[in-house]
Amino acid sequence: MKRNLERLANQKFDVLVVGGGIHGAITAWDAALRGVSVALIERGDFGSGTSQNSLKIIHGGLRYLQDGNLSRIRMMVRERTTWMKIAPHLIHPLPCLIPTTQKISGSRLAMGVALKANDILSFDRNQLADPEKDLPDGMIMSQRELSRILPGYDIRTSTGAAVWYDAQIYNSERLLLEFILSAVDAGAEVANYVEAISFLQRDNRIIGVRAKDFQTGQIFDIQSKLVINCAGAWMDCLLEKAALHSEYAVSIAMNVIVNQVWSDVAVGLTSQPVNGKPPQVLFIVPWRNKSMIGTCHIPWQDGPDAFMLNNVMVQEFLDQINSAYLPLKLSLEDVRHITWGFLPVGKADANKQHVNLTRDGVVIDHQKKNGISGLISVLGVKYTTARVVAEQAMDLAVSQLGTKAKKCQTHMTQVRGGKIEDFRAFLRKALPKVPRAINERSTEHLVYTYGSEYQKLVECALVQPDLARRIDPPLPVTVAEVQHAVQHEMSLTLADVIRRRTELGATGLPPIDTLQRCADLMGREFQWSSERQQQEIDSVIQAYPFKQMESLMM
Ligand SMILES: Cc1cc2nc3c(=O)[nH]c(=O)nc-3n(C[C@H](O)[C@H](O)[C@H](O)COP(=O)(O)OP(=O)(O)OC[C@H]3O[C@@H](n4cnc5c(N)ncnc54)[C@H](O)[C@@H]3O)c2cc1C
Repeated sequence: MKRNLERLANQKFDVLVVGGGIHGAITAWDAALRGVSVALIERGDFGSGTSQNSLKIIHGGLRYLQDGNLSRIRMMVRERTTWMKIAPHLIHPLPCLIPTTQKISGSRLAMGVALKANDILSFDRNQLADPEKDLPDGMIMSQRELSRILPGYDIRTSTGAAVWYDAQIYNSERLLLEFILSAVDAGAEVANYVEAISFLQRDNRIIGVRAKDFQTGQIFDIQSKLVINCAGAWMDCLLEKAALHSEYAVSIAMNVIVNQVWSDVAVGLTSQPVNGKPPQVLFIVPWRNKSMIGTCHIPWQDGPDAFMLNNVMVQEFLDQINSAYLPLKLSLEDVRHITWGFLPVGKADANKQHVNLTRDGVVIDHQKKNGISGLISVLGVKYTTARVVAEQAMDLAVSQLGTKAKKCQTHMTQVRGGKIEDFRAFLRKALPKVPRAINERSTEHLVYTYGSEYQKLVECALVQPDLARRIDPPLPVTVAEVQHAVQHEMSLTLADVIRRRTELGATGLPPIDTLQRCADLMGREFQWSSERQQQEIDSVIQAYPFKQMESLMM
């Protein structure tokens, strides 16, 4: 995958997608699979907006039982199955539990009924041929079993636990990239570090965008019959350039990563009212031998670029977490990484003290709404539902283009790396095939990360044995992955490699010598001076406000 700005500037596209988050990435893939000519531009790196910060759960919609919204639940159940089918290496079942209480609404009986309803509503969830993707029925766990998993949890109030299965994204940044790579395979033209700075407009019709390349500062025009605004929290910033706006504002959402609380199971615990926040279910999710805890919601009245995270906000979140599970006693010192991003709320709700999230994705037809043709906006609310929202956007796009195009294919097409029928069998077969220089742990990591494409990385290491080495020995990431990211995956900065192509930065700031080693490798490819290498390292450090001193001293 190579950036080619000349092609972007010289070709006229049917569709130009602005924004390379999960919604933009899948929209571009969807368009390309339908045979529509498509380009995508992203002003930062792919996924560097909200998408790299999710809690990585693909929800089956159990929580929506309380709203009685059965069609939303069915849609989420279908999507969960679809994700496991199209990206089997990156989406895996995740057991979840939530303690039952003595209150009627959270009692064993009420939760048992909810689990039963969930099983019935997801009756078709185990239709995939891959046995690894089977999601067992829900069950009620005894109080004794719960105390084994949650030692010190208040057994005066808990009566056991409700257990069900959802799915977890093994690496959400790689998943998003797989959509970008698959879009390119299907004919899309994509470029990161290119921003749409204004629209090209003829009367009431949008005919493309004026774009800026952050690599060179060059300004150029991209022409398209339709622009799809997938700018996420920046949707209105882009719309303003056509004197438009939506009825949505942003709120802030945050997760923290701390040392492992427990492994293998995601646990939902209800916080007490603290710092003026009402009780809320927080999930403690297993994450790379650590725990990721989310999600904290912060009301916000200004635009996305005005937000700055500070220690008070993080401390208030830790207070909330500690109130949910007293033995934790988390302090700022325990925080290894924070991931935060934006979630949409209605503009009318933006001033409220408590965040009232928009629940469903929205596709806005500006022709109908504002009399401006050639422009569609996509408002995403969940990673889980991004594929279906992208499908709706492309259905509308195709109807407006008036050209013949195939129907949506994304629900039945495996992404690059997804050509695996039976994940466990595939992994078992891969292990003995790999040369000894890449050990078992790294092989497993390669299969989980690159799926059916893992051999490409192995082949690099066979040709150049140096590439089989681990870059940061406690982690399974190989030197080959850094080289592959630079040569084939459009990584232009050190942060792209650390945060989004490899998992070197997935749980916190890597040690400084790891950063230096990667900067050296990239420096050789891009002829970076030592000053440039240092700038790259500094900008990665900036992205990790917590624990950076400790890592720097290692
Ligand atoms: C803390 C947190 C936890 C979450 N947990 C979950 C979860 O567990 N499960 C789940 O399903 N969902 C979860 N979500 C929601 C999910 O992450 C988001 O709905 C999703 O990532 C939004 O994707 P997006 O493509 O709409 O936005 P983004 O990822 O923000 O993408 C928009 C992109 O547009 C680019 N852009 C903006 N303006 C321009 C321009 N002018 N030119 C070019 N590019 C531009 C931005 O740089 C950005 O990369 C969570 C969200 C948060 C914040």
